[in-house]
Amino acid sequence: MTIININIPVRIIDSIKDYAKILQDVVKMNISFDILKFSTTPKGITLIIDVPSEKLNQVNEAFKSEGISVERKSTVCVDNELCIDCGACISLCPTGALHFTNNYELEFTKEKCIGCLICLDSCPRNAIKET
Ligand code: SF4
Ligand code: SF4
Repeated sequence: MTIININIPVRIIDSIKDYAKILQDVVKMNISFDILKFSTTPKGITLIIDVPSEKLNQVNEAFKSEGISVERKSTVCVDNELCIDCGACISLCPTGALHFTNNYELEFTKEKCIGCLICLDSCPRNAIKET
């Protein structure tokens, strides 16, 4: 599976019908995917979705043809100087990339990180950064 970031600009979401059409087009592709995060900003809608890797190009082309930008997600790093091992990020991480050691110190296993960025906003110390 591959995590991608979909940015749907507000000019495309003129009406609920336009948004429904976009989803309908995706459904027609017969691709199942998981929505990991849905957020709205004054600029539009951002979705972080998990798509099958072999369908990535098809999904990219479909969204781009609608004028929607698609980006591969990156990963994160944890600044150990800022982290206070509070654990707030751990329960949000869907893969266990963020976890406690036996000494209740935060440990980040980069190989497990899928770049969903769900943890970014959870840290009260801003210790998690996108890389
Ligand atoms: S981005 Fe954060 S929440 Fe997502 S998998 Fe990586 S460490 Fe876990
Ligand atoms: S939320 Fe921030 S301070 Fe708390 S354990 Fe995670 S990285 Fe460390």
